[in-house]
Amino acid sequence: MPAKILISACLLGRPVRYDGKGKPLHHPAIDKWMAEDRLIAFCPEQAGGLPTPRPPAEVELGLTGEDVLAGRARVLEITGGDVTAEFIAGAERAVAFARGHDCGFALLIDGSPSCGSGFIYDGSFSSRRHPGAGVTAALMRAAGIRVYSDREVEALAAVVAAAQ
Ligand code: SF4
Repeated sequence: MPAKILISACLLGRPVRYDGKGKPLHHPAIDKWMAEDRLIAFCPEQAGGLPTPRPPAEVELGLTGEDVLAGRARVLEITGGDVTAEFIAGAERAVAFARGHDCGFALLIDGSPSCGSGFIYDGSFSSRRHPGAGVTAALMRAAGIRVYSDREVEALAAVVAAAQ
């Protein structure tokens, strides 16, 4: 069975982002993995019960997804709503979904308070980024799933090819 990859649904163009749009990643590896039936699309925020569209949200106070999982930070919408519980539920469902589909890898879009793995925004809603992971990427890593960002698709392609 080929190595399966859980992919942020928005990277396949699914209109699941907070603004009701997708953000498709165009790369030959994506086309190849689609043809090989390796990709399992998932949106943690929708799975956590949030609607689409929804207000943008960030991890507060320059903290990270790990801090959210440890109870040290909340995820807040720009409108002030506390969506911490939905983000944690979505992360838990993402890990369960990945395990259920034998996904050893995840390809997640960077910058998202859920899917970000290299950077996220600092909670001030002023486009300031800092190194760190979102809630789902952090929980996936803790679960042993190898997480790659959309900027690391070449590296993931090399690892997947070597695993065959
Ligand atoms: S939670 Fe992840 S998959 Fe869903 S819209 Fe945000 S970045 Fe895309």
